[in-house]
Formats: sequence, C-alpha cells, structure tokens
Amino acid sequence: MDHFLYKNKQLHAEDVDIRDIAETLGTPFYCYSAATLTRHYQLFTQALEPLPHLVCFAVKANSNIAVLKLLGDLGAGMDVVSAGEYLRARAAGVPGEKIVFSGVGKTVEEMRIALGGGIRQFNVESEPELEALSLVASEMGIEAPFALRVNPDIDARTHDKISTGRKEDKFGLPIERARDIYARAAQMPGLRIVGVDMHIGSQLTDLAPFEAAYTKLAELTRQLREDGHTIERLDLGGGLGIPYTRSNETPPLPSDYGAMVRRVLGDLGCEIEIEPGRLIAGNAGILVSSVIWRKSGGAREFLIIDAAMNDLLRPAMYDAHHDIIPVVEPAPGEPAVAVDIVGPVCESGDTFARQRAMPLLQSGDLVAFRSAGAYGAVMASEYNSRPLIPEVLVKNDQFAVIRRRPSYDEMLARDSLPAWMQPPAGEEPETGQAQVTEG
Ligand SMILES: *Cc1c(COP(=O)(O)O)cnc(C)c1O
Repeated sequence: MDHFLYKNKQLHAEDVDIRDIAETLGTPFYCYSAATLTRHYQLFTQALEPLPHLVCFAVKANSNIAVLKLLGDLGAGMDVVSAGEYLRARAAGVPGEKIVFSGVGKTVEEMRIALGGGIRQFNVESEPELEALSLVASEMGIEAPFALRVNPDIDARTHDKISTGRKEDKFGLPIERARDIYARAAQMPGLRIVGVDMHIGSQLTDLAPFEAAYTKLAELTRQLREDGHTIERLDLGGGLGIPYTRSNETPPLPSDYGAMVRRVLGDLGCEIEIEPGRLIAGNAGILVSSVIWRKSGGAREFLIIDAAMNDLLRPAMYDAHHDIIPVVEPAPGEPAVAVDIVGPVCESGDTFARQRAMPLLQSGDLVAFRSAGAYGAVMASEYNSRPLIPEVLVKNDQFAVIRRRPSYDEMLARDSLPAWMQPPAGEEPETGQAQVTEG
C-alpha cells in the first residue's frame, strides 16, 4: 500500500497535488512519500518482534540524506556499500554503531573512514579483505567488529543481474569454507567476530530461497559456536520483492517473512539484522514526467516523454516493468490506445514500455511512474548531458525539494580545459581558473 492516490481526479502524493509540484519545479522529478517510507519501515520492525533486531536500510536503494534522516529518526540503522554512503548516513545523523558496511570491494581508505567515524560491523567478503581490515584496525589501535558474508549457493530465482547467492556469483565466501576462515580470523589481530552475514539477491518474490539459505545459516551458527566463536548477530541481508504491477502475483509480506525468520532462527538467541532497500523505498516514490510529443511511427504510436533512461535506468538495465499512469485520472470508459512510451535519449534501449494501454495524452500532459523510489534517482546519470533531476519529499500537505535540479551552467562548470588550450573565441581567459589541472 502506498500514498499515491487520485483525489478529485488528480494524482496526489499524500495531500499534495502532483500538478502543484510540477508547476513549481518543472518536470521530470522524483517524489517520495514520508508516510509510505515510515509505514514500510514499521512493517519490518514489527514483523521481527519480539526478536532483538535492527532494520538497516540499504542506502544504495535511495541515498538522499533527507530520506536517510527520516528513517534514522525512526530508529533504523543503515547498510552501506561505500564510504560515500557511509558519509551520507552519518550526515543524516545515524550513529556509527548503527551502520553496517557491506560490499565486495571495500578499499583500505574506506575501512579507515568507517573505523575512524565508528561502525557497527563490516561484512567481510574475502580473505584479502579480512587481512587488510586486520592490518588497518591494528594500525589504528582498535578492533574491527566483523561478520563474514557467506554464500549459501542458493538460487534466489530472480533476475540474473540481481542474484547474488549462487556459487558463481561474485559475492561472499563459500559457506563450506566459513569454519576455516573464522578459525583463521580468530587468530588475527585487530578483528572481533560478531556474527555471520548473507544476502542472496534482490526482488525475491518467494520465501523458499530465503528459508533454504537461513536454514544453512542456522546450522553454520551452531558449528561456529561449537568451534568456540561468539556469534551474537545474524545479518540476513535484504531482497524481499515488491509488486511492480497492481495485477500480477503478490510477493510475501514482511509479516510472513518475519514469521519464517522466527521459526528458522528464533531459538539461536541472536540479534537479527536485516537490510531491506527496495521494500522500504520502492513503492514510496514516483517519477513524474510530461509528454513532449506524441508521434505516429510507421507501425507504432509513440509517447515521447521528458524522462529518459538516464533518469530511471531500471527498464533499460533489467527489463523492469513500471506501471505508468496519467496524473489526471481517466474517466470511466475513456478509450485507451496502445503506445510505446520512450525517452529522448539516443538509444533504442531508452524505452519504458511497449504497447502500453494509455488514455489519449497530448503534449504537456503529466504521467507518473509508480514504484520508482528504489534504484531510481540513485542510478541516474547525466547521459546525453541531461542534468540530474530533482527529488521531492512530501509530508501530509507539504512538499520540500530534497535535491535540487542543477542549472546547465553548474553542469558545464564541472569540466575544465587544460592549461595548454586556448579558451573558446570571444571568452576572456580566466586567470587562475584556466590553470587548474585537476577537477
Ligand atoms: C542491495 C543490497 C541490499 C538491499 O536489497 P533490496 O533488494 O533492495 O532489499 C541489502 N544488502 C546488501 C548487501 C545489498 O547488496
């Protein structure tokens, strides 16, 4: 359930009319609902009651500092995969003790930043990483709390590009080797074992792969304890899927997931950490765009809109489906036409939907992409020199810009000319500025 509904025939985010935002900011833009983010976080934390637990929002799904602050203020921890995400979480006021550092390629520099600023745990994914962490922490005179990310060799049966728990995926360490590696780690300076971690993939629509993986995790936990290690936390990763269409199958609810976790892992006495991203933010956001032109091709009818693959990459990258709805509610029985909805970028992959039934829209009409709150703005680029689009947060009847649209000048000003080039004709050589060699 979300808070993007028609009221008086107009799409609203909570109590804000989407047209009001569009008139103020222009299109395209992302719009998030504070009430939906809050509700989704609370569903997860309630689902895991009464087990001791921490819900760590996967920052990579939506890393806007205002979104992180909203969740952090509710009590959420954060799961980060880079120093940049770590610093965003800290800037949002989340204490280091609530931040988990995941990721397959942490650099020594990133380890230093997180150890210096405070960190709940590193989820370590390789032996060289373990050795580096031991060295960095020892140099700093502290102990790095860590869990090993084990790969349970479970097929999450999701899109290939977001499946992470099979033997052939690059993530984690083979579960059969975990006992040996924990034994080695226990002898290394600067390290403190706190638990075990796994994350088998994203957009899972079935609990069975989770249950199979967590069953292996329970067995490993018992073995590690027999080996004499202290395992106090189990990090279960994220990955619970969301409905991207209103009609098709419904993924499991957080409450079903919670019940399964209690059944499989509840008797181990561990604190449970989970790292949902998509399920918290996905349906808490929309992307609003307007129609530039409609065009009749030879065989097709095209709706060319002002959002493109650089703003929302998921359809081009994962063949993902997004429901696209008109901002003005169609009248009952209003005729629909099958259109291809495309962006202006010079790639055929810049296609959001093919043969989608839409009411007859004209230039200037607004459309909204549902389920765009996760892996939307964070994956945007400036491809085709299209400035990043703004993000807006709605709360009740208020809205606020939480990342503004850069001007063309700002975008151009990031580039600089080498000192050996003449400035373009008609421009004053900018003394000092033109000498800058790095930027
Ligand atoms: C991507 C990722 C998540 C979040 O996955 P969702 O499908 O968005 O819930 C959690 N943990 C790790 C380690 C990840 O890489």
